[in-house]
Amino acid sequence: MIALDHIELTLGSGASSVHVLKGVSLNINASQSVGIVGPSGSGKSTLLMVLAGLEQVDSGSVEIAGERLERMNEDATAAFRGRNIGIVFQSFHLIPNMTALENVAVPLELAGNPDAFAIAERVLAAVGLADRVTHYPGELSGGEQQRVAIARALAPSPKILIADEPTGNLDTATGKQIADLLFEKQRELGLTLVLVTHDAALAGRCDREIRVRSGKIEKDADAPELAKSA
Ligand code: ATP
Ligand code: MG
Repeated sequence: MIALDHIELTLGSGASSVHVLKGVSLNINASQSVGIVGPSGSGKSTLLMVLAGLEQVDSGSVEIAGERLERMNEDATAAFRGRNIGIVFQSFHLIPNMTALENVAVPLELAGNPDAFAIAERVLAAVGLADRVTHYPGELSGGEQQRVAIARALAPSPKILIADEPTGNLDTATGKQIADLLFEKQRELGLTLVLVTHDAALAGRCDREIRVRSGKIEKDADAPELAKSA
């Protein structure tokens, strides 16, 4: 489903340039859940942005759902992302002056979906927010805001869900509920789930754990199993 081959990426320029990803190769099967862990600054978020098609690589190949992203232009990548990839962030990234329903429906509508509001209502109900659709983000708890963000990510029916520290801004109990929701949706929809977390318990719930250090994959718990099944 996802194949990265010898990815090299330097961000910034001049004195502030950083060689962030150093020869990263990685295969992720469809419907697999992968937890990425590692020290702050090791390149985890950058790796996710590459997986999401939000960051162009300097060299190496990025194949997602059978398409080579490093060969696509920006418009084609954005369209591909809209169809295939849902993204959830630590700080929710909701639009404050839109209701929960609008936060989910408007991006779908802008993408040309004529049933955007009906779909948004259904997906919000599926994440447990049927009675919060007219609330604005400021009127929702952190956990509820993250549910809206998850609904927004799932609304276009992506095959891949990418989450950067999805429980990082939540207390332990709420974080567990959000993790439960992510894994429930992953199983129910057969999603490929790739998440970054500092929470060892959350990483441990994934099918596979990958440890990143200084821009390289230091440890890949399930790699031998994958090699066998390939
Ligand atoms: P954290 O756990 O703190 O979120 P991370 O593993 O997600 O860390 P990244 O955000 O991927 O780390 O950043 C990796 C390195 O790349 C960091 O040292 C960061 O300073 C550097 N970096 C990220 N973006 C840029 C940029 N636009 N220009 C220069 N350096 C950058
Ligand atoms: Mg990060």
